[in-house]
Order: sequence, then structure tokens, then C-alpha cells
Amino acid sequence: MNFNFPVDALNQLQTPFYFYDIDLLHATLDAVKKEAGEYGFKVHYAVKANANDRILNSIKEAGFGADCVSGYEVQKALEVGFNAEGVVFAGVGKADWEINLGLDNDIACFNVESIPELEIINELAEKKRKVAKVALRINPNVNANTHHYITTGLEENKFGINQWDLENVIEVLKNLNHVELEGIHFHIGSQITDLMSFKDLCIRVNELQEWFISHQILPKVVNVGGGLGINYEQPDTESIPDFKSFFKIFDEFLELKPGQELHFELGRSIVAQCGALLTKVLYVKNGVNTKFAIVDAGMSDLIRPALYQAYHKIENLSSDKAIEKYDVVGPICESSDCFGKAVDLPETNRGDLITIRSAGAYGEIMANRYNLRALPSAYYSDEI
Ligand code: PLP
Repeated sequence: MNFNFPVDALNQLQTPFYFYDIDLLHATLDAVKKEAGEYGFKVHYAVKANANDRILNSIKEAGFGADCVSGYEVQKALEVGFNAEGVVFAGVGKADWEINLGLDNDIACFNVESIPELEIINELAEKKRKVAKVALRINPNVNANTHHYITTGLEENKFGINQWDLENVIEVLKNLNHVELEGIHFHIGSQITDLMSFKDLCIRVNELQEWFISHQILPKVVNVGGGLGINYEQPDTESIPDFKSFFKIFDEFLELKPGQELHFELGRSIVAQCGALLTKVLYVKNGVNTKFAIVDAGMSDLIRPALYQAYHKIENLSSDKAIEKYDVVGPICESSDCFGKAVDLPETNRGDLITIRSAGAYGEIMANRYNLRALPSAYYSDEI
């Protein structure tokens, strides 16, 4: 199923804005549900990827849980109507109010990243006479082979408990009466396109499971995080990621013990392809070796190219003239405010409608007001 651009209607709207193809979102959700359902795997959607109300609502309606990385995300997930039993909360630096919020709402699990955090959750839970369910986020030291800013599972990264510290964690846990070990948690990074990284993760998880069993512990939940990448180069050939192969890797290589559940926290792969950023050309100007197409969207609307040198496919929806090369840049006073260099576009002119594809994940949610610009608005295929 392809992303559908109703160009005439989109041309009437004030740019820049995000446009979501709701049919594509639903088709993607159906695919995840079907493929995870094959094996009885449970998926919590990673709210950080996109917390737009319409998107969250569809995801909640489809029956997914919510994976949150801040108290604000926990609050949002609950407001939108996710059941507290389907809310998990990760993050290396949870503040007391965020932990209290999770405790007050009896969320499913805190994914804990250090011994001091474990102790604070225990202390706050004790004050409320509660027992918090926790999963240990373990740093598996598995390379995700992705951009270093979105690699999270190496010992040099700040995330998770290192394996050499596990013995201490188990000792500490024995003395904490207000936390209950529910599971083990991993997340090695994002935009992972080499599925072998997930196989490596499975092998490491199996080793760790044996370690836990040798300590007479069988975690009920194994949570392997998110990270499945999408095809930014060709959004239309792979508008729905290959969830089948992804889940199959875990079925084949991760050895679950009887009674254990396997959980996932997918973000990008669920929402990236259903969103696009729409912008209009303000000016075309000749540079030394290139032409600049200066558009009205900037890095404040979509920061991924500036932050991660990320590639997004750029298309001109208004022109079908001969192909030329353009550097597509925004109006912000930073040289990094560039969406693509030497982009092949049909001859482009002022007023042309440009789309920056695969922007549904880590797009609108990362928008900011740099240069005091307005936040981009959002429109939906079933509302225009
Ligand atoms: N879980 C955790 C703990 C994360 O930090 C992230 C994002 O990096 C995700 C899940 C979602 O990852 P992705 O959007 O790559 O699926």
C-alpha cells in the first residue's frame, strides 16, 4: 500500500505541516498485529517516536501497549486511554515525580537502569505501601550497526545495567521489599536494518537467561525493545516494514522458557512511513556549484537531517519537468538547516509543493521553536 498525496487539497493548506496517511498507518498496525500475533508476542508502541493524539489514538485502538521514556509520556498515554497495565516506563534519569506518577497509576513495569534508581523506586513505593514491578534494563554490549547517536546497547553508552554489575543488582534486590523483579529489558538502538544485529541480541539474551536461571531467577517478561529500521531511500517500495522477518528472527533464535512472555517496543517502524512533511519553495537561488531550493520548512520542523545526517527522500509534487540537482535548504540561520544535498528534482520553482518523506517518526515530536518559529501543524488523510 502506497502513501497517497491528495495534492490539490494539500496545496490549499498553509505550509509547513505534517501530513499523515491514516490508511497506511492502519495497514501498518494490522501488519504488526498479525506478525507479532503469530507467536503471541506483545508490542508496546514507543511513544517517543510520535505522540500526536490522532496517531496515539489509532495505536491504542489497535490494542498496543505504550512504552514511555518520561513522566510526560506516561501522563499522555494515560490521558489518551492506554490501560495502565499496558504502560511501561524506561529512561536512565527518572525524577521522583515521574516514579510517583507511575506508582500512583500502577503502571505495568519500570524498566530500571541502575542500582541507585532501583533503591529510589523501592523507597518511593514503600512510602505508598506499594510494590513496584521492575524489569532490569541490561546493556547487552551488542552492536546495532547504526548511527552512533542512536546506538544504545554498547558498554560505552549511558543506558542500562552492565553485565558485570548484575551480581550486585541481585544482592541489592534481595533487600528491597517494595520492588518485584518482573523482567529483563534490552534496547540496542534504532534504525537497525541488518537483522543479524537482532540475532546477536537473541544469542546474548539466551546467555543472560542462563545466568539468571543459575541464580534461581526466571524473569516472567523478556523485553527486547525496538529498533527495527525502515527504508528511507524507497518509501514506496517498502511502505510497511518487513515485520514478518523481524519477529521470525526472535522466534528462531530467542529461547523463551515455559511461561515467559516476549515483549517489543517498536516506534519508528510503526509510524515513520505514514507521515510526510509538506513544504513550499520560497526561492530558487544559484550557488557556486549548485542550485538552492529554499523551502519554508526548516530544521525546527524536522531535525533528523541536521542531528543525525539522516536521509529523507524529497519529492516535488508540483512539477514533472526535466530533472535537475538542488540543495534543499530551510530558512533557519544555521548551515546544518539542509534537508538534502544534490537532490534530483524536476525543475523547481517558487510555490512548488515539496514533500519530505518518511517523517512520521522522530519528526513532529522533535519539532521545536528555534528562531521563534511556529510549530508545524498536522493534517490527516481522512480529514481533508
Ligand atoms: N525503547 C527504548 C527504550 C528506546 O529508547 C527507543 C528508541 O530509541 C525505542 C524503544 C524505540 O525504538 P525504535 O523507534 O527504533 O523502534
